[in-house]
Amino acid sequence: MTAPPPNPWILEIDAYVPGRTEQPGVETVAKLSSNESNLGASPAAIAAAQAAAAVPHRYPQSDSRDLRRAIGEAHGLDPERIICGTGSDEILTLIGRAYAKPGDAVIYSRNTFAMYEIIAHAVGAEAVEVPDKELIADVDGILAAVTPKTRIVYLANPNNPTGTYLPAREIERLAAGLGDAVILVLDAAYAECVDAADYEPGLALCDARDNVVMTRTFSKLYGLAGLRVGWGYLPRAMADAVNRVRNPFNVSAPALAAAAAAVKDLAHLAEVRAHTLHWRNWLAAEARALGLEPVPSQTNFILLRFPDTETKSAAACDRYLAGRGYFVRRFADEDLRNYLRISVGTEDENRGVMALVGEFLDGPPA
Ligand SMILES: *Cc1c(COP(=O)(O)O)cnc(C)c1O
Repeated sequence: MTAPPPNPWILEIDAYVPGRTEQPGVETVAKLSSNESNLGASPAAIAAAQAAAAVPHRYPQSDSRDLRRAIGEAHGLDPERIICGTGSDEILTLIGRAYAKPGDAVIYSRNTFAMYEIIAHAVGAEAVEVPDKELIADVDGILAAVTPKTRIVYLANPNNPTGTYLPAREIERLAAGLGDAVILVLDAAYAECVDAADYEPGLALCDARDNVVMTRTFSKLYGLAGLRVGWGYLPRAMADAVNRVRNPFNVSAPALAAAAAAVKDLAHLAEVRAHTLHWRNWLAAEARALGLEPVPSQTNFILLRFPDTETKSAAACDRYLAGRGYFVRRFADEDLRNYLRISVGTEDENRGVMALVGEFLDGPPA
């Protein structure tokens, strides 16, 4: 028997490769490979999720209305223009499904979040990768890549895995250059980590333009990655379109309850943010002291460049760390093969990983 073939464009998808989380025979000491909050979630969010999990036979709100109201209050936004999803991945995917089809093109920057390419292929659109400039998205390059087929530009700001960002005036220039015919999706998954004064997650543009969307997540500083909650802020007509392709009941009840509590727990968020900024700078300073080059980061991770030698390479360091229970992220892409990405962890995890990196660089060939 042979099964009917899938849509041919589906076969273009290279499955998402998550960060390493275990090594057979090695006890895990620190998981610094997925940019989670290593400080955990708000206790109020955990309690709310537990209470909701005790009522599993009831469907959640089909349209996440209580969470949308809580997000709206916290950020000063119209809840009617907010859509919640199972992670911001779902919002990014729904936008692709609503606006791109076979024959269209979807643009994103090189060395960015892998989901944009997956989404483009999933809807049968052409995936157009625009080279970046020293690991920073290139607005002129993106604008030059636009053709009449272009429907969506996805831009992570700040970007993963580079940690770099574009200032508000560059994003405005991008939006102005795209005009009305192309949707600009600003993926602000790391907005809570930014301390650059010239950064803006995209709210003003979403209000000023009918084709600009901002997405956010509870997976990073809010510490709810396992529950899968994210949201988007969309122009009214776009929210209407995206809601048509959204499944009802898409966010589970424990996830909704936890996120609504988390968005109100400003003290917890402030504590995690202060920790993240402090240790991000510490990791970069330690790396420089070891002779490595950290890429300037506005996120909850740092990207470190290793020597391009056999014995002191990023790949060799990754193996050295994994053998000792420290999991970080390395990349197969040619541009990033000399780099490792290390998420901010607890104080012990941060000190532990940099001590091992130092040991690796000083020691004999592993
Ligand atoms: C982590 C991350 C997300 C968040 O994905 P969720 O589905 O909300 O967990 C989105 N975009 C980027 C660039 C990320 O790094």
